[in-house]
Order: sequence, then C-alpha cells, then structure tokens
Amino acid sequence: MKRLTKKDVQNVYNRCLSLVRRKPAEFVVFKKLKICGWCLYEDDTVVIDHRKDMLRTAYHECIHYLFPDWSETQVIYAESRVVNGVSILDNIRFLKHLAAKAYKSALQKDLQIRRARRKKKLKNEARNNRRHR
Ligand SMILES: [Zn+2]
Repeated sequence: MKRLTKKDVQNVYNRCLSLVRRKPAEFVVFKKLKICGWCLYEDDTVVIDHRKDMLRTAYHECIHYLFPDWSETQVIYAESRVVNGVSILDNIRFLKHLAAKAYKSALQKDLQIRRARRKKKLKNEARNNRRHR
C-alpha cells in the first residue's frame, strides 16, 4: 500500500473537491443502501447512503472514481487520511458542494416524478371525458 504524505493528502482532497464541483448535479445521488455507498463508473455517478457516514463515504467514493486502480484497502486508508488530515473548514467546504449537488439532483428527480404524475393524470382525465360523452 502506498503511504500518503501530507502533501499527497491535500492533493487527494483538492481532486475530490474539484470533482464534486465540476460534475453535473446527477453525479451525486443520495439513496438508502445496504452498504455505505457505490461508485458507478458507467453511470458517472456516486451513490451515497445519507443515513450513514456521509462525509467519509463521499470521500471514499470520489477516491474510487479518481483512482480506479487503487485497492479497497488503499481507498479506505486515503479516505481516513483526508478526513483527518485536512482542516475542518476544508471538510465543510467539500460537504457544502456535495450537499448542493445532491440537493439539485434530488430536486430534478422529484420534478420528473411530479411531471410524470401530472401527465398521467391529464391523460386519464382526457380518457374519462371521452367516456362520458
Ligand atoms: Zn470502497
């Protein structure tokens, strides 16, 4: 396993932050899972169980995304080094950007569901109106 220096830790943090900042809202999804999180490379998404250790899980999945060749042990080590090694302000900055993306992502999903329901309701009403004539 590759040991990370203080400089490496800050670099991993900076890359996690810039990843969350530059990705579209859909990149971050909160969902109830049996595990803490998932990194879905194919969907370009990280899924995080918001009921569990959100900050650590978010770093963990971002590190998987950024360093796909790292072992699980290496990722767990890096996640721990980042969460403990950067300042509280840096941790909160990351959480702020993560939460903003997750909020936008959840809002978009909610709007899609509402639109689909409204469309279905209008369709049913149109069908019922035809029947009553
Ligand atoms: Zn993992």
